[in-house]
Parts: sequence; structure tokens; C-alpha cells
Amino acid sequence: MSGRPVRKVVIAGGGTAGWTVAAALVKNIGSLVEIVLVESDAIGTVGVGESTIPTARRFHELLGIDEREFVRATQASFKLGISFENWTRDRERYFHSFGTVGRSTWMADFQHMWLEARAMGVAGPLEDYSLETQAALTGKFRAGSGEGSSLNYAYHLDATAYGQYLRGFAEPLGVTRIEGKIGDVRLNPESGFIASLVLDNGEIIEGDLFIDCTGFRALLIEGALETGYEDWTHWLSTDRALAVQTKAVGPARPYTRAIAHRAGWQWQIPLQHRVGNGLVYSSAHLSDDDAIRLLESRVEGEMLTDPRLIRYVSGTRRASWNRNCVAIGLSSGFVEPLESTSIHLIMIAVTRLLQLFPFSGVNEALAARYNDLSRTELEGIRDFIILHYHLNERAGEPFWDRCRIMEIPDSLASRIALFRESATAFQANDELFRIDSWVQVMLGQGLQPDSHHALGRMIGAERLGGSLASLAANIRQQAGSLPQHQAFLDAFSPQAQPSG
Ligand SMILES: Cc1cc2nc3c(=O)[nH]c(=O)nc-3n(C[C@H](O)[C@H](O)[C@H](O)COP(=O)(O)OP(=O)(O)OC[C@H]3O[C@@H](n4cnc5c(N)ncnc54)[C@H](O)[C@@H]3O)c2cc1C
Repeated sequence: MSGRPVRKVVIAGGGTAGWTVAAALVKNIGSLVEIVLVESDAIGTVGVGESTIPTARRFHELLGIDEREFVRATQASFKLGISFENWTRDRERYFHSFGTVGRSTWMADFQHMWLEARAMGVAGPLEDYSLETQAALTGKFRAGSGEGSSLNYAYHLDATAYGQYLRGFAEPLGVTRIEGKIGDVRLNPESGFIASLVLDNGEIIEGDLFIDCTGFRALLIEGALETGYEDWTHWLSTDRALAVQTKAVGPARPYTRAIAHRAGWQWQIPLQHRVGNGLVYSSAHLSDDDAIRLLESRVEGEMLTDPRLIRYVSGTRRASWNRNCVAIGLSSGFVEPLESTSIHLIMIAVTRLLQLFPFSGVNEALAARYNDLSRTELEGIRDFIILHYHLNERAGEPFWDRCRIMEIPDSLASRIALFRESATAFQANDELFRIDSWVQVMLGQGLQPDSHHALGRMIGAERLGGSLASLAANIRQQAGSLPQHQAFLDAFSPQAQPSG
């Protein structure tokens, strides 16, 4: 590939991806490389992406972002997990928390003991053994590791405000922002590398490394380099979303709601000043007009905006790093938003890029390593999301019937078989979701293991029941001692007032 040292990085696009990349690059290697970001106000951003996972906290720490300032600037609230409602059948709910569930031993993870205790009649619901779940469901929250408890949490944030906040962080550190519409991407005729971006006003922006953050348009990685896209619609068949903002009708819940409907699901994301809502659906099973009616009938609170339609195709770019272009954000692919993983993927992508940065020139080995790591992680996330759809019990609804009988990736099929036969779950190398996550969702979606480890049997009903009861009591007591989420938010970010 090119031996030319990378001295100038050009970021195309200024949504959450563009500004996250700009902030991380300038903070960490800004003394070595010049960083330019081109964005077009006329085109705007996708405007959704408001629910995060705990990676955001670690990433902010890495950048030295002050949590209080960030929460205030982005009207953020705190998130302890996701409440999945109606995914198995109507009126059934389970919670996927960011915390640990129960206590595992070196020999057997917690679910084995819980399953034994349940068979013996001495276990409560799985939710009793997670502090994050108990806090979420009772509307409690406290940040930090203060008295009594330390919760694993993430944020709900205003997507537009977040981009502006990161811009405010990156520009003073030295990122140059250029406003303009990219009309053309020029390639070097010999190497096929990107040589420059040409703006509609004629300005030419040259660079050594180009980061494609142009969203679904993928102007560089696809428009210019024709990298190709792997379509995963046969597994993840929702392809449209309607997004709408509403007034809050009560205190902000410290969790995202994902409520299944006949052809997809609905999100509810509480912020300080409003609630983000959306309907995700399969256009083969629900028309846009019916989707609008369904969304309008289900939102709580006055609508502050008109429903906005977003089309997407779940899948991945064949390579995120191609020649001297790295696609980050929606340009690199999109796995639908059920587990709020896209912003995480952006943060991990730029972290990975920093670790493998081609200071001395783009080379194939670095690109291949980056692509391998990215794909492994994405496939794990893909499988985890397919799991929710595949293990549904909503018989008689064509969308859900199809999800239940569809062929699934071998990697997921073997994981489900392992859990069904033996209650064993695992987190593979470079995989995002921990054992706790797999267990909460597999059990939550109604997957009943045929057998489990005998450790619980060896412990015996009396001791096992006693230890589970005391664990649950301890968690109840800890959750009970936490402040209400809304009260904590009001004190943490003084402008925060419930707007309902
Ligand atoms: C329905 C839906 C719900 C989602 N929910 C979540 C969620 O809850 N959690 C989560 O983590 N993620 C979520 N995501 C994903 C999340 O929205 C994105 O990952 C995130 O917003 C990053 O988007 P982006 O910056 O890649 O693209 P965009 O926001 O689309 O930004 C693209 C940028 O490129 C610029 N651009 C494009 N063309 C040109 C041009 N010709 N010239 C100059 N500039 C140009 C635009 O102006 C803009 O600045 C969701 C996505 C969808 C579709």
C-alpha cells in the first residue's frame, strides 16, 4: 500500500460519528497529525441515536470529559438497561441490565444455581438478583461509587446536542471545521487511494487518511471506493423507523423501553427536557401510514415534532478500512438499534484506530487487523440482536412467525443449543456482551435449559435458598437506599426539570 506517512486526517461528516472521531483523534494524537472535518449543515445528521451503553462512560473518561458538564449540555439522563416488553407474549416483560446478575462461582455461573433453586422452589425471579434491575424498576439511581452501591450505567442523550458538545470539545483542541457539501471524491489514478474531497464551492481538501463519517450516504467508502455491503436483512428484517419527540409525562425512567408490536418494536428514551420515541418496523409487514397511526396511538405525551421516516438496511460494509479510508458510524454499516450499540461501535472503532494508527503510512496488515477485529465484534452484536427476534412466542403474527422459523447464523444456533442443553453461556474474545447479558436475554425470551450444572444440588435446598434470599434482601435494601432517579438528576444537573 502507500508508504506515505499520515500527517493529515480528513474526516468527512460531522454527526455523532464525525465529532466523536475528531474529539478522540485530536485529544490523543493531535500533536502529530493535522485534523480537518468537513460537514454540511444543509444536509444535517440522522438525528437519532440517543440511547447508549456503558462504553460511553469509559470513552468520556479517556477524553477527560466532565460528567456533570456533559449531562447538562446534552440534557442527558441515566440508563441502567433496557426493559423488553411484549417480546415473548403480550404483557410479559423482562429486563436486560448493565449489571451483574447474582453471584457466580469459579465452577458454575449464577444461572446454574438459580435454575436449581427454581426447580427446588426456593428461588425468586431472576430480576431479584440484579441491583441495576431493582434500581431501574423502582426508578432509583445514583452515579458514582458513593454509599452502599456502585451501579453500572450509561446515558440517554440528545443526539444533536451531543454532536455540538463534542464539536465544542474538539475545535479548541485544534480540529479545523470546514462547512460545505462534498460533491466529488478524487482518487489517485495509480494507487486508487483517495486523494482529495472536492466541495461544491470548488474547494479541494487533500489528505493522507480519510475517515468516512457521512452516514448512510457512505460517500467515500462506497461512493468512491465501491467497497460493497453485506446485507443482513434476512436475519434482521426491520428496515424502517419513525422517530418523534414528545413531552415527558412523568419523572424520567432510568432505562430505555423496547416494546414489541406486531411488526417490530417501539423505543422510548427519556431525556431531561423531552422523550425520544420511535417505531422500528418491517416495511414488508407494516405500511408507513399504518406505522404512523400505530406510533401515534402508542406514544405517551404531546408530540413535539412530526414523525420522521428513516430507511435503513441492517448489514455491514465488506471492509470498514479500505485503502486510505476508514468508515466509522453509519457509513460502516448498521445493525438495527435494539441494543443501542451504534455509538459504542463508533467509540470502539476510533479507539481501535488509535491503537492501529498508520503513522508511517497505510499498510495492508494494519487494515486487515482492524477489519478482522471490527467484524468479530459486529457479528457478536448481530447474533445477540437476532436472538431477541428469533426466540419470540408471538405466534400468529406473520412478522414474528417468520423470525421464529428463519435460519439463523451457525454461531448463534450453536450458542442457543448449548444454553438449551446445559444452561451454559459464554463471552467469546472481543465480544461485547457479557455472560450476564446472554443469560438475561435467553431466559427472558423464554429459552428453558434442559439441564444445568450440579453445583446447586450439592449445596442443597436449604443453603441455596438461604443464600439467594439473603442476596435478594441485600439488593432490595441497597436499591431502596438510593435516591429517585429524577431527584438525583435534578440535583446533579440543576437545569433538569421534568417537563410534563
Ligand atoms: C432509527 C435509528 C435509531 C438509532 N438509535 C440508536 C441508539 O439508540 N443508540 C445508538 O448508539 N445508536 C443508534 N442509532 C445509530 C446512531 O444514530 C448513529 O450511529 C449515530 O448517530 C452516528 O451517525 P453518523 O454520524 O454515522 O451519521 P449522520 O448523523 O447521518 O451524519 C452524517 C454526516 O455527514 C454529513 N454529510 C453527508 N453527506 C455530506 C456531503 N455530501 N457533504 C458534506 N457533509 C455530508 C452530514 O451533514 C452529517 O454531518 C440509531 C440509528 C437509527 C437509524
